[in-house]
Amino acid sequence: MADASSTPTKTGPAYDIVHHEYDVVVVGAGGAGLRATLGLAEAGLKTANITKVFPTRSHTVAAQGGISAALGNMGDDSWQWHMYDTVKGSDWLGDQDAIQYMCREAIPAIIELEHYGVPFSRTPEGKIYQRPFGGMTTHWGKGTAQRTCAAADRTGHAILHTLYQQSLKCKAQFYIEYFAIDLIMDEDGSCKGVLAWDMSTGQLHRFRAHQVILATGGYGRAYFSATSAHTCTGDGNAMVARAGLPLQDMEFVQFHPTGIYGSGCLITEGARGEGGYLTNSKGERFMERYAPNRKDLASRDVVSRSMTMEIREGRGIGAEADHIHLHLEHLPPEMLHAKLPGISESAKIFAGVDVTKEPIPVIPTVHYNMGGIPTLYTGEVVTLKNGNPDTVVPGLMAVGEAACVSVHGANRLGSNSLLDLVVFGRAAAIQAAKITPKGQNHKLLNGSLGGKSEEQALARLDKLRHANGSRSTADLRLEMQKTMQGHAAVFRTIPSMEEGLAKLQKTCAAFNDVKVSDRSMIWNSDLVETLELDNLLANALLTIASGAARKESRGAHALDDFTERDDVNWMKHSLAWRTSDTEVKLDTRPVHTYTLDDEMHYVEPQKRVY
Ligand SMILES: Cc1cc2nc3c(=O)[nH]c(=O)nc-3n(C[C@H](O)[C@H](O)[C@H](O)COP(=O)(O)OP(=O)(O)OC[C@H]3O[C@@H](n4cnc5c(N)ncnc54)[C@H](O)[C@@H]3O)c2cc1C
Repeated sequence: MADASSTPTKTGPAYDIVHHEYDVVVVGAGGAGLRATLGLAEAGLKTANITKVFPTRSHTVAAQGGISAALGNMGDDSWQWHMYDTVKGSDWLGDQDAIQYMCREAIPAIIELEHYGVPFSRTPEGKIYQRPFGGMTTHWGKGTAQRTCAAADRTGHAILHTLYQQSLKCKAQFYIEYFAIDLIMDEDGSCKGVLAWDMSTGQLHRFRAHQVILATGGYGRAYFSATSAHTCTGDGNAMVARAGLPLQDMEFVQFHPTGIYGSGCLITEGARGEGGYLTNSKGERFMERYAPNRKDLASRDVVSRSMTMEIREGRGIGAEADHIHLHLEHLPPEMLHAKLPGISESAKIFAGVDVTKEPIPVIPTVHYNMGGIPTLYTGEVVTLKNGNPDTVVPGLMAVGEAACVSVHGANRLGSNSLLDLVVFGRAAAIQAAKITPKGQNHKLLNGSLGGKSEEQALARLDKLRHANGSRSTADLRLEMQKTMQGHAAVFRTIPSMEEGLAKLQKTCAAFNDVKVSDRSMIWNSDLVETLELDNLLANALLTIASGAARKESRGAHALDDFTERDDVNWMKHSLAWRTSDTEVKLDTRPVHTYTLDDEMHYVEPQKRVY
């Protein structure tokens, strides 16, 4: 739906472009994008939301286990313990100001969600139900916290539907099934809007805005086996890379221990939270050996590595000894029905297993991208400029899985992502409302509405639309996915990552020889997939190049040849720029080891309160 002020203007050789003007444009209608949109619309800013899929089909809908917050509804808890767990879980790569902000704001943010109408499961007294999750402790690691608020095993679904309904109520304007192609950047480096393609009519649209908030999600689909939706192609990350800006900590890719063997479909960690456990071919509960305290609820990287170790040492299950069993059959069927209905169904459909009777075959599967667009805890995107690693890029924000705030550092704790979405979606809306003028005019860029960057975006689109090479999109995508799965997975070595980088550089070069068969602009899925592949390749290249450079083991980046964490040389974020089709420039950015005071200002470490 176009707004009333839309007027077609001619830009570029062959494309009419509909022009729109907004205060803020959000790209993405997952949990992060919707929470930001809702906050902006509530603040009275003229807000548009552009999304390539219908909002409630965003990947957030698949989130099962829950959302963390130290409400203390089911035992002792405090946000400081939550913060301690998150800093530790991040393997000391998380920015502590952002982690503090997230854990403290978690409590009001969840209560707010409840008031917006999220149908959380309840305790007998009527409080929000909370389950234990991996890495979540009380008393500084001594006890097990029940911190993860859940709406059965459909928490993401519940949150997404509620946020969409509330956004509609506040009259945010949605542009649904619009594919954002590229950012519109001014020559001074600030962001001025976004160019998008309405896939149903073939029309191009220019959205000028004082702030663009990217909430485009992760890029799990760069790998062969992933729990994420096929739409998780890192489009926002790639737009940022094309704008000449860096992406941060891309080497940190989380594998979830329990993807269903074969399909990759997720079985939530909540299954182990409710008492499920893993066994090898000998029937041993092997997690007792690797993590004697936390056992099956150790953090995800520990469980994934332990499972891979069992498989590598020949104790895997099945003819190929290549997977592990997850047991739920000892749990009461009525509990499984009430608390884990969705995964019971998934196990039936994707593994043919009745969870009340037999174990589920599982394998570690790509699940989450800790890396992404570097931001401050306000959502503002930063870059390294004149020696300042926290230089804000005016007009550009990022939230959710696309962003690297960085609250997850080298490894995300389960249920901290949904929290990241709502806390930082909300924070970005608060900050945008502070710094964005309402209803102000948009200046011309180099004498035109779209400027030079729009011309470049159109040229790229046009080139891909008419690409007539010899390699199919599907073929190149598979090549990339196999390389990533083989060279940037749970176990890594520097030589293997370097080999993977060389392979991927060849695939990136071969993308110049891609063939698109459909030249139309209406529902051209061939072109959509090719644009997405271009975006995936950017993410994959920066991931593997950053990984090949980091010579230590930290969180999800576990090297066989550098097995120790090296805080002296590597307690810093990686920054990676794509400088050409195949080349990457690397640098680093210090980790924020300071926290905030009550007014959310920075506090020097020696003046910290706890
Ligand atoms: C199966 C599964 C289960 C999970 N369970 C949990 C859990 O229990 N707890 C937890 O904390 N985390 C969980 N996670 C992680 C968490 O759900 C995700 O990290 C989170 O939902 C990402 O939300 P998002 O808003 O950043 O992006 P998404 O929900 O992925 O949404 C991205 C949005 O961007 C839009 N978009 C993307 N590219 C473009 C483009 N080019 N143009 C226009 N629009 C675009 C899409 O249309 C979509 O609306 C789970 C993840 C998976 C895959």
